[in-house]
Amino acid sequence: MFKSTYLMGVYADLTKRYQDQPEFLQAVEEVLSSIDLLVDKDPRIQQQAIVERIVEPERIIKFRVSWVDDSGKVQVNRAMRVQFNSAIGPYKGGIRFHSSVNESIMKFLAFEQTLKNSLTCLPMGGAKGGSDFDPRGKSDNEIMRFCQNYILELYRHIGPRMDVPAGDLGVGAREIGYMYGMYKRIENEFSGTFTSKGIESGGSLGRAEATGYGLCYFVEEMLKAFKNDDFKGKRVIISGAGKVGSMAAEKVIQLGGKVIAMSDISGVIHDENGIDIDLIKNLSKTNLVVMDKYQSYHPNAIYSKNTKDIWKVPCDIAMPCATQNEIYLDSAEELVKNGCWLVAEGANMPTTIEATKYFRDHNVLFAPGKASNAGGVAVSGLEMTQNATFQNWSFEEVDEKLHLIMKRIFRRCHEASLEYTGKPDDLVTGANIAGFVKVYQAMIQQGV
Ligand code: NDP
Repeated sequence: MFKSTYLMGVYADLTKRYQDQPEFLQAVEEVLSSIDLLVDKDPRIQQQAIVERIVEPERIIKFRVSWVDDSGKVQVNRAMRVQFNSAIGPYKGGIRFHSSVNESIMKFLAFEQTLKNSLTCLPMGGAKGGSDFDPRGKSDNEIMRFCQNYILELYRHIGPRMDVPAGDLGVGAREIGYMYGMYKRIENEFSGTFTSKGIESGGSLGRAEATGYGLCYFVEEMLKAFKNDDFKGKRVIISGAGKVGSMAAEKVIQLGGKVIAMSDISGVIHDENGIDIDLIKNLSKTNLVVMDKYQSYHPNAIYSKNTKDIWKVPCDIAMPCATQNEIYLDSAEELVKNGCWLVAEGANMPTTIEATKYFRDHNVLFAPGKASNAGGVAVSGLEMTQNATFQNWSFEEVDEKLHLIMKRIFRRCHEASLEYTGKPDDLVTGANIAGFVKVYQAMIQQGV
């Protein structure tokens, strides 16, 4: 798996200790496979136990959240915050509310976040947090009470120079608003400790669009560099119709591409006339799921209940934007068979290691999430700057900065790929190495 015996040893130890954390081990394995090319070049990595340290979170805070539902019953949820690495800045990473939240998923996300934040070149360390609370079907008041009780513990561990959370699955501007409101009441300061806030509460214009738009800016750079081409006329499929997927769809269409399929947990819509993204956004305002309703507005569209069917739709470009491990080997084979030649991850680790390898072996251009979905955290970094300096930038200013950051991230991955693999398009290796280098150098500067 790795050539370096040092890495083999570190990974073997990790697998023994964390056998029950498959997502975390998967994320580490993917990164260490790339770092293999670097460890021989800098003996300090082994001498100073950099890899042993970088795969272990600096701190995990676990806590109970009790809250009262609308019927007066006391509910109990479990929550945690993984503060993974603060070598290059205050911890930064989203909060996820989803029934699947566990230590493995939180650690994988926080580890990925560490390298992603490093790639943006902004001073942000890596963290992730969440709870097994499921906001689906809860009333607005229940969500508010849960968020407030969640902050009653978390407030001790966060702050503008300590740890700055944001949204993720199940956490949008509404939840951030309730959490920030409670935090502000306790701390008595308007410090901007959360990002993805509502605009009136100090949020940044362009943050809602940032991850999806940034993904498209990254793909634009790939198309330019590797195909001398652009989005015009490309057939694109996007899984997930949430914050990332819907904004990616909007930008693909603006750039001249045609989005022909999208999904959510109710199923897949395949519309050869081009997905009606305005309809999806409108339906999302009042419905928990929307794909099962699309066909009644566009009868020629094809609906399937099976979310995996999206990967069977012939396309040029696939953008998995829903969740981790959406594309297994069988779906990767299907995509390649049907002519897909570019896959760009909008979600975190939506592609398994086997599927990623299959894409690479079949000359599919591949954009790894830690680079291609970094636009969200990049604009969160810009939100922190605006809050710290009491400024409000226009949407155009933020979007222009985002565009530049995504170009810079692409360039860093591209250059690292060339330097370490001799190939220009191994962006998985390029992103892992470029992200890792800054973090480990800071760790060396700061001593053990
Ligand atoms: P949202 O909750 O806003 O949206 C997720 C979307 O994916 C929803 O449409 C959801 O459907 C759908 N979905 C979930 N599971 C499946 C599945 N198995 N098959 C098909 N659709 C599914 O989350 P985000 O858009 O914020 O996040 C999506 C991914 O992007 C996550 O991996 C997240 O970590 C990552 N990410 C998010 C960033 C951000 O700025 N928000 C930044 C960087 C990464 P339904 O609504 O029906 O549940």
